Amino acid sequence: MSDLLSVENLSVAYGSGAPAVNRASFAVGEGSVVALLGANGAGKSSIMKAISGLTPATGTVMFNGEDISTLPARTRVAKGIVYVPEGREIVGDLSVRENLVLGGYQKPAAERKRRMDMVLELFPEIAEKVDRQAWRLSGGEQQMLAIGRGLVADPKLLLLDEPSLGLAPLLVRRVFDRLATIRQESDLAIVLVEQNLAVTMRLCDELHFLRGGRIVGHRSAEELKDATARQQAIDAYLGAA
Ligand code: ATP
Repeated sequence: MSDLLSVENLSVAYGSGAPAVNRASFAVGEGSVVALLGANGAGKSSIMKAISGLTPATGTVMFNGEDISTLPARTRVAKGIVYVPEGREIVGDLSVRENLVLGGYQKPAAERKRRMDMVLELFPEIAEKVDRQAWRLSGGEQQMLAIGRGLVADPKLLLLDEPSLGLAPLLVRRVFDRLATIRQESDLAIVLVEQNLAVTMRLCDELHFLRGGRIVGHRSAEELKDATARQQAIDAYLGAA
């Protein structure tokens, strides 16, 4: 499997203190799901923003064989890299439909319409509420809208920042089931940021563990199916549960 994304020696520094991300390197194969796990402040969101072009970074970001390290964020979106930020960041005063239109602003109208129909089929919960203002949706529906808005842009790589945050377990399961469906039906690759290993295991192929801005460990999801190996990884990288 060839790499769709390859990140080498990526560093992000916001001020003069310790870097938020310190020489992180990892790759994402076409159609695969790679998770970044770590505690609050480990640098996960900063990696996502650096890949998206939303924060200055050093190091190299290769996408589809092209060095995109210096390209502006909108050009990266056009190439197929779409970021769904933590906290959803949908536009509350706009309707569900208008939020989806925003996701496809770079697409021709007919294609955007086709993608929106696909998203509404995938998330019937929000299809029932297309004319409702987004702030009126439940937390789970807002998360579906945020992911749906990302999908309207027709990404090759979706960067998903803590989609489980603030959701009840049942809704987390529902959101992850839909993501699994998207995986089956397309060759979409995903970088998934999470703090919750159990949830992450449902979807991903590979996991990287972050601490203090560094990638300190790597496991395949296959390796972590073994309960002892899973506990060892939790103890070694995420702190004793
Ligand atoms: P969380 O789950 O809390 O978002 P995270 O693993 O995604 O955690 P980051 O948000 O990438 O971590 O933050 C990494 C470090 O960089 C933290 O110490 C954080 O305080 C700092 N940081 C993040 N964004 C900024 C910013 N815009 N300005 C200054 N410091 C920042």
